[in-house]
Amino acid sequence: ASAAMDQVRPGRSGYAIYTAGQEQESTRRLALLGDLNRAIKDNELRLYCQPKVDIPSGSVCGAEALVRWIHPRHGMISTTEFIQLAEQAGTITPLTNWMLEAAFSQCHAWHEAGLERALAVNLSAHDLYDQGLVDRVRGMFSTWGVGPELIQFELTEGTLMADPDIALATLFNLKNLDVQLFIDDYGTGYSSLSYLRALPVDALKIDRSFVTPMTAKDNSAVIVNSTIELGHNLDLKIVAEGVESQDVWEQLAAAGCDVAQGFLISRPMPADEFLAWDAGWRRAKA
Ligand code: C2E
Ligand code: MG
Ligand code: MG
Ligand code: MG
Repeated sequence: ASAAMDQVRPGRSGYAIYTAGQEQESTRRLALLGDLNRAIKDNELRLYCQPKVDIPSGSVCGAEALVRWIHPRHGMISTTEFIQLAEQAGTITPLTNWMLEAAFSQCHAWHEAGLERALAVNLSAHDLYDQGLVDRVRGMFSTWGVGPELIQFELTEGTLMADPDIALATLFNLKNLDVQLFIDDYGTGYSSLSYLRALPVDALKIDRSFVTPMTAKDNSAVIVNSTIELGHNLDLKIVAEGVESQDVWEQLAAAGCDVAQGFLISRPMPADEFLAWDAGWRRAKA
């Protein structure tokens, strides 16, 4: 250890020990967070879309909206990293609002171009405790003239846990707008399916940590197949994320899974490339 050895700094609850390296890391994260707030204003965020395909018919049924931050100096910043940062700092609201505007505007543009595709927006825990969210979404529906079947929401089980009463009220109010709600990353949380069934959700997205390795010799296929069966018995649609191979697609089809999303179909792409991609998919199918 050098002279720049471990330092003790007061943390929020008592003391946290930072090594020199960790201190640099937290400084970097703090700078990144400040920069993110600037980036939203300076319009450095981009809407990317990843297609979802109906397994029985092979038709595109929609896309997931995924945010990208293309930094003028640092290039593409990891989405997982800056989303986590914004969530921890409690500053996800401006990002969510940016994504909502981008998603509504994109759906509207597709509609004008004759393409009806549902776009699913990810919500964070903080969004469900934001009392203004539902009114803003309602306002966007009327501003953009987009039908309720074209905007969907994905939320993880964890988002509901902090204060279930408030989160549930938001969920029911969103559902009253006639949108579809998805439980994201299903299988990584601790909720029982019977609890989830009591929520106004329409579908489960099985986490890719179970889907991607499903053809390998482990328990993944058992988990995926039983989730599909149980979910169907509870009247939920099942989406598999992280579909990377034809073998996995075929196992999912055999198990009756409804929708697939993953690199096998397409990586997420800039939203303005989606129309041409979708046309290409339809041509290849015909
Ligand atoms: P998610 O909602 O579970 O999104 C799926 C993630 O899996 C995306 O990562 C996507 O690029 C990746 N993915 C899709 N197919 C495959 C595949 O076949 N193989 C592999 N290895 N990965 C695949 P991405 O875009 O980096 O986003 C990471 C997470 O960040 C998302 O996970 C979501 O939780 C969050 N996120 C992304 N955009 C937003 C946003 O606008 N708002 C909020 N609140 N969260 C967002
Ligand atoms: Mg998602
Ligand atoms: Mg997911
Ligand atoms: Mg995920």
